[in-house]
Amino acid sequence: MRRTGTADHHTRASVTRVSLTVDFEPDCPPYLSSTFRGVEQGAPALLDLLDRRGVRATWFTTAEVAERYPAAVAAVVQAGHELGCHGVTHTAFDKLDERAAQWEIETSTEVLRTFAPVTSFRAPYLRFPEKYVPLLSAAGFTLDSSLAKYKRAYHRRREHAPLTRIPASVTSSVLRLPRAIRDPWLRALADPVVLFVHPWEFVDLRRERLRLDCRFRTGTFALNALREVIDLFVQRGAAFLPMRELMTASKTA
Ligand SMILES: [Zn+2]
Repeated sequence: MRRTGTADHHTRASVTRVSLTVDFEPDCPPYLSSTFRGVEQGAPALLDLLDRRGVRATWFTTAEVAERYPAAVAAVVQAGHELGCHGVTHTAFDKLDERAAQWEIETSTEVLRTFAPVTSFRAPYLRFPEKYVPLLSAAGFTLDSSLAKYKRAYHRRREHAPLTRIPASVTSSVLRLPRAIRDPWLRALADPVVLFVHPWEFVDLRRERLRLDCRFRTGTFALNALREVIDLFVQRGAAFLPMRELMTASKTA
């Protein structure tokens, strides 16, 4: 059954399409750019879970990860997931001038397209100035998931056809909240639901010197939580689709 309305209905029972997205990048701040435990240890555990549940996700990958860990990126593609683009250095685009922004987009695109066709983009930190959106179309992207429904920029967005913009529905740490808080929150999300996780969440970081939201309930707990979240949506009859298939589904709706 496919819904025929727009993407912004606020009814509880109507979610039929969910995209799980993975920001495939170095470990959380302040480790960013220096450690890759998520890529080395978290990603294999995540791939295994997704394989067991038959979920194909979209992995927004930095060129840095692709260059350091080509086998890990090839494994993602091999498993049938969509490869998306997440820039080169994981720098926030609102700190870049246009030339640097263009360099990030063109360089990451070039590197990632040696692994698979790449047509979906997400900016690091979900921060992407509207003035740079045309750079995405110019680089051949058809989908942008740099917006988040829970951030102010979402309400200031403009359409940039033919680019489709599909925001993230909730921040990643929500998935690790206690079930009694998390599940009602997730059940209230509108279709299509876009979830995201980071591979480092599946590494036990509880004793590291990190912000609370980067370390609480990481490791096995996070993996179990994600399994429960997948099952919650599947039990409601929703299908998990990579983002580019979500876009086709929303266009034909
Ligand atoms: Zn990121």
